[in-house]
Amino acid sequence: MHEFSIAEAIIHATQEVVQANGGGKVEEIHLRIGELRQVVPDALLFAFDVLKQDTPLAEASLHWETVPAQVRCKACNTEYHPNDVFWECPSCGAIGGEVVAGEELDIVGVTLMEGSDGD
Ligand SMILES: [Zn+2]
Repeated sequence: MHEFSIAEAIIHATQEVVQANGGGKVEEIHLRIGELRQVVPDALLFAFDVLKQDTPLAEASLHWETVPAQVRCKACNTEYHPNDVFWECPSCGAIGGEVVAGEELDIVGVTLMEGSDGD
């Protein structure tokens, strides 16, 4: 279940953000997750709930938007949304391509609890 490693990465990155801002307890984390990461939402929420214990994120909730995958054809430069495991260019029929979007794992916002000052 690769959601555990994703949750771990999210927690690690969030803690760095919190420390850079002087510490505190986290209320909400907002993310952008690329479609190609194939995250199962329930699995990610479960992993996050397990791993956040005993961290400043213990009461935090996770919110994210999925970034649609986008692939650029290497033959004709057409950008398209890959629909299945074989990426076939709708314009020239070439297989494969370069990923333009869909591999994101970005923290776009961290909300700290009001009145929280780090200890
Ligand atoms: Zn093409």
